[in-house]
Amino acid sequence: MAHDVVIIGSGPAGYTAAIYTARANLAPKVFAGAQHGGQLMLTTEVENFPGFPEGIMGPDLMENFRQQAERFGAEITYENVVEVDLSSRPFKVRSDSEEVEAKTVIVSTGASARMLGLESEAKLLGHGVSTCATCDGFFFKDKEIAVVGGGDSAIEEANFLTKFASKVTVVHRRDELRASKIMQDRAFANPKIEFAWSSAVTEVLEGDDGKVRGVILEDLKTGETREQALSGVFVAIGHIPNTQLFEGQLDLHDNGYLKTHDGARTSVEGVFACGDVQDFTYRQAITAAGSGCMAALEAERFLEH
Ligand code: NAP
Repeated sequence: MAHDVVIIGSGPAGYTAAIYTARANLAPKVFAGAQHGGQLMLTTEVENFPGFPEGIMGPDLMENFRQQAERFGAEITYENVVEVDLSSRPFKVRSDSEEVEAKTVIVSTGASARMLGLESEAKLLGHGVSTCATCDGFFFKDKEIAVVGGGDSAIEEANFLTKFASKVTVVHRRDELRASKIMQDRAFANPKIEFAWSSAVTEVLEGDDGKVRGVILEDLKTGETREQALSGVFVAIGHIPNTQLFEGQLDLHDNGYLKTHDGARTSVEGVFACGDVQDFTYRQAITAAGSGCMAALEAERFLEH
């Protein structure tokens, strides 16, 4: 029998949609992905999620979301969805081990880390190249590292990584940061953080041990290159929406994010989208959670009618 609601994704958007649809007695089936919780699993302290005046660790917050969804009867499967068919009803959603039918689908697949696109970067991913300071910072105790990017993520990671590293060089392609003022001020005041302005990493260098030993930096104003010895490179240059499953089935913006209208509706009736997969403007945990609530209420109304 077709599920009333199938939710794909388990960040703040997906779990909020699960909490709301579960409390509406719709017994949502959630495909949480092989690694649940979304991007907050890769972050440390979350200071701006309302309701936590002292802040909360990202993974702890997501564990709370998960427990709250389960408490009201959400069925959570820890698998990735590999295919969807939204061309006829009921919709079909297939994961590694099962195929289910759905009267409504809520898409909350989020976005993934953007990479520089260097061969050496791909080769050394997990051997000194990382996209997750929380996961890997510990391995760089008393080492010199670089963070690439100039947005909030890069600056937050740079600040966090100074807990471990002896020196953090922020490599940014312009001569001013995109990050919010409060983050910038913290970074500028941090004696362990240095900046390589208007610079790009053009090569990640591999040592004899198969790990990162340095980078080649290009000064984008003069074209000059120089080698910098370091042990780790954290890439924090933004994200790409996880919309591959829906290409050709749902309308996308030119930048690849899902199009939504009238709240959380997509181009297919009965399919709703929430969170970062459809939001390239705000991209906050709280806005993702809010849009998850909208998607859940829209799905509920759709089923009633
Ligand atoms: P972002 O704001 O899009 O910043 C991406 C950064 O990477 C920019 O500085 C960009 O340079 C640079 N960049 C992009 N492509 C590049 C490339 N190919 N090579 C080199 N540099 C490249 O992404 P984000 O920092 O991940 O933040 C995403 C959203 O989450 C934002 O809305 C942010 O405010 C929010 N966020 C908030 C917090 C917080 O409040 N605690 C923490 C993290 C993220 P340009 O500046 O030149 O474009």
